[in-house]
Amino acid sequence: MISAQLSAERVFHSYPSPNGGRVAALNGLSFDLARGQTLGIVGASGAGKSTLVRLLLGLETPKSGRILIGGTDLNQGTPAQRRQLRMKLQVVFQDPRSSLNPHLSLRSIVEEPLLARRSTSRKERSRTVDQTLTAVGLDPAMQSRKPDALSGGERQRVAIARALVTEPEILILDEPVSALDGPIRSQILALLAEIRASLGLTVVLVSHDVRSTRALADTVIVLYAGACVESGPVGEVLSRPLHPYTQALLEAVPLPGIVWTIPEPTVDADPEKTGCACRSWCPMATDRCSEQPQLESVAGDHHIACWEKTDPLS
Ligand code: ATP
Repeated sequence: MISAQLSAERVFHSYPSPNGGRVAALNGLSFDLARGQTLGIVGASGAGKSTLVRLLLGLETPKSGRILIGGTDLNQGTPAQRRQLRMKLQVVFQDPRSSLNPHLSLRSIVEEPLLARRSTSRKERSRTVDQTLTAVGLDPAMQSRKPDALSGGERQRVAIARALVTEPEILILDEPVSALDGPIRSQILALLAEIRASLGLTVVLVSHDVRSTRALADTVIVLYAGACVESGPVGEVLSRPLHPYTQALLEAVPLPGIVWTIPEPTVDADPEKTGCACRSWCPMATDRCSEQPQLESVAGDHHIACWEKTDPLS
């Protein structure tokens, strides 16, 4: 059996809600991601995508469950051990305009993580920065420019270079092309695909945009109310969605009576008692949906959590 490079084990995370209770932002999410594979996480607003990114980056600790990198818990061990583990992982955010320091030159932005992490000579750093800029399609001669003097696509290339310069094993892409226009979006997607393949990176692509997920991911998890409602090989799930939520998401039109907000279970809410999170709007809901459906295989690695396993093609 191939061991996972990145795993989530029944991850639960919650926040205080305005009504004084707790909102379950992630509700028992699990996955295993093998080295060199790309996992897409799709879901509409409020599904729990940003929460997952924060947990993967170690910015917050799950209330329960574990995140494992190469089998080691991201939130266990000494501070030095945790720091070491987190260095294996880097992130590219949606909006390079806000994620890049506008006062720094392109060179300083890309060099900064090296200064913080490695004792390398100036000459070595300079060579690494030049190589990384070239690898993302930027001319090292541009290195004295500041982010405002770059186009949106160039800025995102700088953000990608900054993420890659410390040679991470895992790359988190948080809506990496959502802020870009059509042709530039395609170019950045192509660059990400090329880099992933050439460096053998393990990638988590978080997006509400199914087109970029289709272009980059090997497998996909469809997230709703912090839980996986459907998962499997990307081509199969996106071209033959079986869960009512995935079908609604792909059509990008709300199902009749759909409510795109998450119900707010209390922090200790037991999914076995609260039932399927979709049942308040799902046109196929039955009495049975007051029980939480488990993820079950419908064909090989294609899983859904739904009592009504409907296939629009059958
Ligand atoms: P979007 O695409 O809109 O960013 P998302 O899929 O990233 O949505 P999250 O931001 O992870 O979803 O939010 C999941 C749930 O947790 C939502 O109900 C949200 O209101 C809630 N939530 C997230 N962060 C906090 C916070 N810091 N305090 C309170 N509630 C939060």
